[in-house]
Amino acid sequence: MRAVVFEEFGAVPEVREVPDPAPSPDGVVVRVGATGLCRSDWHGWMGHDDGIALPHVPGHELAGHVVAVGSGVANWRVGQRVTVPFVCACGRCPACATGDQQVCEAQEQPGFTHWGSFAEYVPLRHADANLVAVPGSMSFLTAASLGCRFATAYRAVVERARVLPGEWLAVHGCGGAGLSAVMIAAASGARVVAIDVAPRALELAREFGAAVCVDAASVPDTAAAVRDATGGGAHASLDALGSPATCAASVMSLRRRGRHVQVGLLPGDGTPLPMDRVVAYEIDVLGSHGMAAHAYPRLMRQVAAGALRPDLLVTSVIGLDAAPAALAAMGERVTAPSPSPSPSPSPGMTVITPRSALRPDLAPPAG
Ligand SMILES: [Zn+2]
Ligand SMILES: [Zn+2]
Repeated sequence: MRAVVFEEFGAVPEVREVPDPAPSPDGVVVRVGATGLCRSDWHGWMGHDDGIALPHVPGHELAGHVVAVGSGVANWRVGQRVTVPFVCACGRCPACATGDQQVCEAQEQPGFTHWGSFAEYVPLRHADANLVAVPGSMSFLTAASLGCRFATAYRAVVERARVLPGEWLAVHGCGGAGLSAVMIAAASGARVVAIDVAPRALELAREFGAAVCVDAASVPDTAAAVRDATGGGAHASLDALGSPATCAASVMSLRRRGRHVQVGLLPGDGTPLPMDRVVAYEIDVLGSHGMAAHAYPRLMRQVAAGALRPDLLVTSVIGLDAAPAALAAMGERVTAPSPSPSPSPSPGMTVITPRSALRPDLAPPAG
């Protein structure tokens, strides 16, 4: 099969022939219909992730057809349309046993712990614990656009922040995850305050249903602006970017008994939480990490019904041959000089469709 391969961290990958994958006994092989390009892929390529062994194929936001099934898989068969969470669970550890596969103790991530989906085919292990059916009416492009960002935002808003209709939700950072959260919260009837430094990100947030937009580049205290706009503070707030400034602003923008959800990744040391406010206001501090496969059907129904439109986040669709340059270009967005707090990554999402290079002899039945 053809795949995007890199031999060295930070060296431009090449598209080349590699052996076709075979399924593990409890796994499947999926022919990739569409796969999202994410900043996590860029971090992996740059060598920021300890788990990656070289040579490597990135890619973790995929959807496609099952083309091969291991002998121990009970619930999946060739020809089915599927996607997977970016956290692929073992299905057997104590966390999995309680339904918390998103924090599995032996989790794998395609494109990190093993070769990923910037390829014609991708192997996925523990299929019964991880595969999610994609409805026939939903394109692979839409399913891939759920990626790690939209699904993570969904769990953060619905299961962690537990935002109720009429409540105020502040979303700090309107990149892919933040804009997804805006759309999901607005669709559920919450009133959303979107915060970013980029005018284009705020424009999109407004389009996706934000009631109030705060330009963090021109407001000296974004938390105070959120408190003013919400009559004393938001009920819940997300740091969707992951920076000391947005994390602290998220906590400080809450009303008493508010819920802060950390979605963006932060370095482990120097946690910037204002703990005096956390105690005085009895703030709940919550983490959010992906979404388990069993939680997808509710999200899939809302997407299939058009109530949620993750596909609107897709601004570019490219073939496998253009993927290496697109991967390398992701770094330009984050290394450019910027005002403080730093802007979110570009809200537009790129999706790769390797199908143009499909070999007819390996094609499953159309559908
Ligand atoms: Zn597990
Ligand atoms: Zn991702």
